[in-house]
Amino acid sequence: MPLVDEDGQSFKLGNYLDLSKAELVEKKLAKAISGLYKEDIELKQPDAILISHSHPDHYGLMPFVKSQIPLYLSEGCLELIKATYYFRGLDPIFKTVEIIENKKSFSIGDFKITPYMVDHSGFDAYAFLIEAEGKRVFYSGDFRGHGKKSSLFDRFIADPPGDIDYLIMEGTGIDGKPGYCEKEEELRDRLVTIFKEKRGLVFFACSSQNIDRISSLYSACRRSGRILVLDPYTVHLLDVLRKRAPSIPQFDFKDIRVFFTSDSNTRRLADDKILYKYKDSKFPYDEIEEKKDSLVVKPSYGIRNAFAKKGYIEGSTLIYSMWGGYFENEKPFWDEYGISPMYVHTSGHAGVDQLKKFASALNPTTIIPVHTMSPDKFPEYFGSKVRMLSDGKPTEL
Ligand SMILES: [Zn+2]
Ligand SMILES: [Zn+2]
Repeated sequence: MPLVDEDGQSFKLGNYLDLSKAELVEKKLAKAISGLYKEDIELKQPDAILISHSHPDHYGLMPFVKSQIPLYLSEGCLELIKATYYFRGLDPIFKTVEIIENKKSFSIGDFKITPYMVDHSGFDAYAFLIEAEGKRVFYSGDFRGHGKKSSLFDRFIADPPGDIDYLIMEGTGIDGKPGYCEKEEELRDRLVTIFKEKRGLVFFACSSQNIDRISSLYSACRRSGRILVLDPYTVHLLDVLRKRAPSIPQFDFKDIRVFFTSDSNTRRLADDKILYKYKDSKFPYDEIEEKKDSLVVKPSYGIRNAFAKKGYIEGSTLIYSMWGGYFENEKPFWDEYGISPMYVHTSGHAGVDQLKKFASALNPTTIIPVHTMSPDKFPEYFGSKVRMLSDGKPTEL
């Protein structure tokens, strides 16, 4: 799924759900892959779909896909996709689901597949080694080497799978600026300093699905004596991952509070009798004034509006921890209070040095760039190994 619409605004799947396969293809939102779509009733379907991780650019168009096709994905990825569908009110798409695990190979027809867990801003993310008829293709997925799971990157580089014919490698960060790959720990330390220095409310905006960042945020709150206030949507996402990763921050951890908002996500949780689970951690309105020097609030849409009504936005600090392009949508709100954001962010993707290390460790015969705005930069770093393919163009091994 594209991340932005034709007009540059963030992509709203809801506006497209009625499109037919032909319309999707015509609008260049998807490829005409035979047997993949719900309408392709008579056509032979693909044997399986591998999903590397739960970012919408990797699975967002699933509602158009024939639900009989088996999906292979990790437990964390499945939980996050299920939760996303739940909040959007979409039907679950899964008929046959196979849970993948790090380095546990499985077969689909003639293909042998081995997942490799990678360090990425998406939770429980994987690369795939795909083998068939004596050929070996490695798909990098989205990855980095400077996050909380950087040891996965280091271990992979030290002991990579060999004899790779084709490396299909992401290149989001191939033109990353200095600072693109700040270590997640260093980012946390910067937060500690800011949280200690600032007086008044601190808002910290990040993706609710960036679990590494929320862990860094909580850790910085603990080290600076601040209480972390989250919205019910975020708390629920963390809760569904509890079994998969017991150490990630939860509503019942010390100094985490939940601010009950009145948005549609919270209403859904209330209607389904899930919200009451978080009631002992509820943060009341009347404590904001008294505790404002010791709070860090994640400003969901609902929280922002509730705090604005009470006059709590003036004089606050906003830390923005996402790609700067996303801020454009929120800018008018903060502009009204004369607040400009402090950017404290590090990428979910590898920069040039990490891409180089990754490619030279795997030492493939051929490198195919994917997931990049600058494929033309690949030959600069990887020379004649690079084979450029345009979208939808097949290649033969
Ligand atoms: Zn991703
Ligand atoms: Zn991606």
